[in-house]
Amino acid sequence: MTQVQTLSKNQQVVFDIILKAKEPLKAYSILYNVQKKGINAAQQIYRALDKLIEVGKIHKIESRNAFVACKNSNCEMSKATAFSICESCEQVEEINDKNLSRYLAGYKDKTGMKYQKYNLEFFGLCKKCKK
Ligand SMILES: [Zn+2]
Ligand SMILES: [Zn+2]
Repeated sequence: MTQVQTLSKNQQVVFDIILKAKEPLKAYSILYNVQKKGINAAQQIYRALDKLIEVGKIHKIESRNAFVACKNSNCEMSKATAFSICESCEQVEEINDKNLSRYLAGYKDKTGMKYQKYNLEFFGLCKKCKK
């Protein structure tokens, strides 16, 4: 990561938990994990999650209502994300494809409307599950 972002103590704790997780984490399992570290208020966790999303450190997987750490240092502060989700094993990967983001950045619909942000989720079977 090129940019150094200062996170508050709560944000750092929450971020570390999401970073270490092998799968997208739901808010309640984050809460369960931070309670061991002395943060008890759900409010604080939600505030930390909002901030981490805002600065692009984590992303929310809407269809799973869960959070993943950003694996793409280029998309800090970005509101444009795409994920591939395996419908069998629930593996989630952040898609980092310059062609796709370039296409979507220039995309206009029939009325000429352009989009500032998107949060795409593609579903299919990962390599492992295809076998
Ligand atoms: Zn990202
Ligand atoms: Zn799979």
